[in-house]
Amino acid sequence: MSESRLSSTPLQHLNGSRPIYLWGASQAGMGMLYALRRQGVDITGFIDKRKALQGGAIYDQPVYSPEEVLYGPRRASRPFIINTTFQHKNEISAVCEAAGLLPGEDYLYYEELSPFDYQVVVCGICNLRCISCPMGNMPAKEPAGMMSAATYARVLDKILQENPYLGIIQLYNWGEPLLNPELPEIIRLTNERQVLCAVSSNLSLTRDFEEVIRARPGCFRISLSGWGETYAITHTKGNWSLVLKNMRRLSELRARHCPEMPVEVTYHLYRHNQNDAMKIGLLCAELGFVFRPHMAALLPLDNVVTYINGGQLTPAAEQTLEILLLPIDQAVKMAAGERHLACNFEHAINIDWDLTVKHCGLYYSRADNQAADSYLETSLAEIIARRRTSRLCRTCRGKGLHRFCRLYTSETPELEEQTHTIREAAS
Ligand code: SF4
Ligand code: SF4
Repeated sequence: MSESRLSSTPLQHLNGSRPIYLWGASQAGMGMLYALRRQGVDITGFIDKRKALQGGAIYDQPVYSPEEVLYGPRRASRPFIINTTFQHKNEISAVCEAAGLLPGEDYLYYEELSPFDYQVVVCGICNLRCISCPMGNMPAKEPAGMMSAATYARVLDKILQENPYLGIIQLYNWGEPLLNPELPEIIRLTNERQVLCAVSSNLSLTRDFEEVIRARPGCFRISLSGWGETYAITHTKGNWSLVLKNMRRLSELRARHCPEMPVEVTYHLYRHNQNDAMKIGLLCAELGFVFRPHMAALLPLDNVVTYINGGQLTPAAEQTLEILLLPIDQAVKMAAGERHLACNFEHAINIDWDLTVKHCGLYYSRADNQAADSYLETSLAEIIARRRTSRLCRTCRGKGLHRFCRLYTSETPELEEQTHTIREAAS
């Protein structure tokens, strides 16, 4: 982003004169809160349509419903909205405009401030072999290793130089970050630069993670797909007793070291584990974690391309297909129908543990998926230019696969109803 573009944003000017709201109390929204604080800009709160979040607070900022801000008494103070959601960008713009808000004057998009999001894979190794993930379902493994804290610091400084409104940095993609012994230092380096870092873990580990929590990650995600014996069917090689013990320990450690850290549980729904969702939801309520169910998908997209082309999948990938709630044929057809729509991942820069930059983190194989050998030695402009002309993106868009994941992760009325029922049961 150029200096002139930055100085033309209205935020500094708005500070103190109009209330600023961040639409979307998810990781991107929390990241934008950090970025604005770094720039000396205060916000009034979050807006989120999820009833489970409304009335609560994220990082001491209240969460309001869209109606409260757009049509309630808050409207009188001329709210300014930053839309931090990528998946629902157009829907939210339509809601804002229907309420009389004008683009640029009354609301803007997250990417107008921070055009790119970053995944820095600090650990490319995982202890599990989940059947819906490349760690468990790809025929060949790519090189795997870990990033040192010293290298990470150089990466982060370059990112901030190229993207001053960087809000959040995701420290994972196809790997278990808690396996990296330098993770506490990596988190501290991120906090020193006032950037929010997101950690995700399977928590099926015997190693102690108190130092990680003491370092205060910005947010913590746990991925689950069952309870008891069901768990390890799809979190293959996982140990449910260990996970349960670690979830309780995480809750204790959070209370001791960083009570403000949001913890969310991503629950991957398959045909066989729907009955366990209630138990997991109640456990989340007990531990103060946010419960986020969504349908599981077959990933990485390399497998979906193989499927479409009639190629041979591995037994693990085949097993995944049999238990998907949204059958792959239906998802492929729906995605193809959306091929003309935008890609929500083109703003994501994926930097692997050895500094290679991928065109896209949804694909695993490095063949055709490498934008740079070294992030540190390649400018952002060059990386973007290479991606724009990449064969991978062209093929992916041609099949509509850039819309594929969204079909599985979008919140459906049924899921909203389910989370509502769990919340009622927990209260
Ligand atoms: S889904 Fe996560 S926990 Fe499971 S194998 Fe992949 S990286 Fe590991
Ligand atoms: S077009 Fe496909 S490969 Fe390219 S960034 Fe989007 S999802 Fe990834």
